[in-house]
Amino acid sequence: MSCYSPCTRMFALLLIVFLSVSPCLEARVEPTRGFDIFSQDEEIQLGKQNAAEVMKQLPVLPDSDPVTQYVQKLGGRLAARAPGYQWPYNFHVVNVKEINAFALPGGSIFVNLGTVQAADNEAQLAGVMAHEISHVVQRHGTRAASKQMGAQLPLSILGGLLGNSTLAKAAEMGISFGVGSYFLKNSRQAESEADLLGTDIMYDSGYEPQQMAVFFEELEKQMGPGSNSMINQFMSDHPNPGNRAEAVTREVKTLMARTYLADSADFKEIKTRVAGMKPLSSAEVAAMQKQGGSSGSDVTPSANLKVFTHNEYQISYPENWQVFGDQSSSVTIAPRSGVSQNAVAYGVMIANYQPEEAGESLDAATHELVASLRQSNPDLKQIGRDETIRTKNVTGKSAELIGSSPIKDAQGKALQERDWLVAIARRDGTVLYLVFISPDKDFASMRPAFEGMLRTLQVK
Ligand SMILES: [Zn+2]
Repeated sequence: MSCYSPCTRMFALLLIVFLSVSPCLEARVEPTRGFDIFSQDEEIQLGKQNAAEVMKQLPVLPDSDPVTQYVQKLGGRLAARAPGYQWPYNFHVVNVKEINAFALPGGSIFVNLGTVQAADNEAQLAGVMAHEISHVVQRHGTRAASKQMGAQLPLSILGGLLGNSTLAKAAEMGISFGVGSYFLKNSRQAESEADLLGTDIMYDSGYEPQQMAVFFEELEKQMGPGSNSMINQFMSDHPNPGNRAEAVTREVKTLMARTYLADSADFKEIKTRVAGMKPLSSAEVAAMQKQGGSSGSDVTPSANLKVFTHNEYQISYPENWQVFGDQSSSVTIAPRSGVSQNAVAYGVMIANYQPEEAGESLDAATHELVASLRQSNPDLKQIGRDETIRTKNVTGKSAELIGSSPIKDAQGKALQERDWLVAIARRDGTVLYLVFISPDKDFASMRPAFEGMLRTLQVK
């Protein structure tokens, strides 16, 4: 890791820091100001460019994912209490198991799924996010970049940088905030500022600020030689400025005593959901980046539909997919390249299930069905709860499961698979069920086609 170049005398002259400490009770920490050659608009533009790169390079969950929706709601609540310039804050969840989070200049904040999995309570997750929001408020990224540019450029050029030329000059000097960027690694000074500002944001939003320090210190305790690299990464990006907990406690003491929010029902639901998810490791992400990522367009479902008529049901499917098994009791509809050696990577399986006891409720039958599917696929796990699902033609139970895809990554490890099970009671007491299958990373893009197929299903 490289480090900041020492301040030159010229730079020291340019650097003006206002540290305002207000003596009155109930005062909030004021954001510090520092030397920054980027205007707010430039910073937003720079952040947007880098966010687009991050989206391409990392497995970011779609905005429609329930975990993302929850994180966006929590983030919005915290950002509403952020002081200073109102940046266009936006929040994303990266499907990676390492415990980490980072903020791009201008307000894009990325939280790894591993962080949601590791948070013991909602205040801890809020703490990580309030801390990241504070890095944005303090413009730590562009301030570090400005420092670097200030040290390298003659004053005449530095003074002449205006508008787009700042961004062009930054690009020319190789300054970027992309994945793994040096400017996303924070100094201890920046950490201390983010902790203090984060404390106030948490307090004002109703979350117990000490939980932020508890979470960070817990990570640090577990860190060390031989500990898992997931924790080391967070601590390397957000180093302990020293006595985190004490600093937070000192700040809280300047504020009036208040009661804090308990974990919301949303948080509890999301914790259950993420417990069943298997995010990728950074090594797997790196391997996918090398491979070029995408799984190929030949599985992409066509918008034109064909009708398949079975003697027990009728369903429409994308015309570039195929029906395997025809009139048998188990039919698979899939793209040709989505099926290999009897394993389905993309597509839908449709079959019948005979409940153990006659007259059983669809609920009970669905649970049995999940258990029997798990018998043949032991690593299959249900995420979230069963839900009732209704289309124009059918009513059923829906459940989502996570398992292993037959598709392997570059290192020979199976990708995570998402299976969407829909069970429908038939008049004769049996259950017709469909399992929509896709690697987890492509599930969001396949979902509209799956839902479209389900809407056309008619059970005879
Ligand atoms: Zn930090």
